Amino acid sequence: MNYSQFFQTALNRLHDERRYRVFADLERIAGRFPHATWHSPKGSRNVVIWCSNDYLGMGQHPKVVGAMVETATRVGTGAGGTRNIAGTHHPLVQLEAELADLHGKEASLLFTSGYVSNQTGISTLAKLIPNCLILSDALNHNSMIEGVRQAGCERQIFRHNDVAHLEELLIAAGPDRPKLVVCESLYSMDGDVAPLGKICDLAEKYGAMTYVDEVHAVGMYGPRGGGIAERDGVMHRIDVLEGTLAKAFGCLGGYIAGRAEIIDAVRSYAPGFIFTTALPPAICSAATAAIRHLKTSTWERERHQDRAARTKAILTAAGLPVMSSDTHIVPLFVGDPEKCKRASDLLLEDHGIYIQPINYPTVAKGTERLRITPSPYHDDGLIDALAEALLQVWDRLGLPLHQKSLAAE
Ligand SMILES: *Cc1c(COP(=O)(O)O)cnc(C)c1O
Repeated sequence: MNYSQFFQTALNRLHDERRYRVFADLERIAGRFPHATWHSPKGSRNVVIWCSNDYLGMGQHPKVVGAMVETATRVGTGAGGTRNIAGTHHPLVQLEAELADLHGKEASLLFTSGYVSNQTGISTLAKLIPNCLILSDALNHNSMIEGVRQAGCERQIFRHNDVAHLEELLIAAGPDRPKLVVCESLYSMDGDVAPLGKICDLAEKYGAMTYVDEVHAVGMYGPRGGGIAERDGVMHRIDVLEGTLAKAFGCLGGYIAGRAEIIDAVRSYAPGFIFTTALPPAICSAATAAIRHLKTSTWERERHQDRAARTKAILTAAGLPVMSSDTHIVPLFVGDPEKCKRASDLLLEDHGIYIQPINYPTVAKGTERLRITPSPYHDDGLIDALAEALLQVWDRLGLPLHQKSLAAE
């Protein structure tokens, strides 16, 4: 039996469909974000990163780096095991208290990633609700889809952000059926935002529980960085908020926050929590430092929005096909997987600009794009250079530009 052949065939399929992915070997330079070193096949080069989800550059913030180093030096590196076997370390307890406070909830629970928090969180919650019906947004992240699938209960998909469709499904389920509505607050490929207030209205009216993924919003929206739910004044109406420490907080880990009995039940039943080692103390301290900083400092949030707005304005004025986005995400439409990959390669090789191509299955076929994420540290010069580089790449690949006069309207 030639086992290698199975894997080679699978890889060839990706090559044929132009979906095979190659990762650039990058090394960020703390203190010089968004600059990084690219260890290219032809040697080391300086590049500018335009697609990081370390949205606010907190991964290099002196307070965050300092907390990580100080804790690792003081208590060592690993957590030493699962919390059920090896106990819970103090920085983790402090971090859970910080997160509960961030979301105005009684409790929070940490997982090793946002992915795990959704996968094991959603499935565990739904399994503990008898005869649960899950109502899930059509564009939910893979981690949520996996959580819903593993719950093993009945699920229905409502059209993306379509509250009328959600209401139809809630009515059809009947008042006596337990229902769990699962959605994101900010969808990171299009940069659009869920109508959380209306979703809460419906959940309250029809007696459903709500679970909201705020992964792309925590740290960045709301007066204290509590997310879109905080910004929209509905945080207290959502049963479970889920977030990550790996994006705007610049570290690693995921969590859920909610009422004490909900969190305690997940802690007690979720396999993805019970059977895996806890996050290391240094990571927890670093995340706590990032969250605390962003609870009071608004500079990062304001500058982030300002940079995103300027990037959209400059690219749009240049005639580039910026897709509409209500948030800090700047998607640039390409609509072809091969050209998307080529555009990304040319940007890196000829212009020292790193933007990963976003192809199927991350987005639907025919909607391939470059997903640009400006940070507080992308200055005017970098934005102008980005526009210039994109225009050259667009020209080289024969990609269409908007009429400049139309784009300016
Ligand atoms: C990135 C992401 C996650 C997973 O978070 P990690 O901490 O990176 O595992 C969950 N939900 C959404 C919507 C995401 O984009």
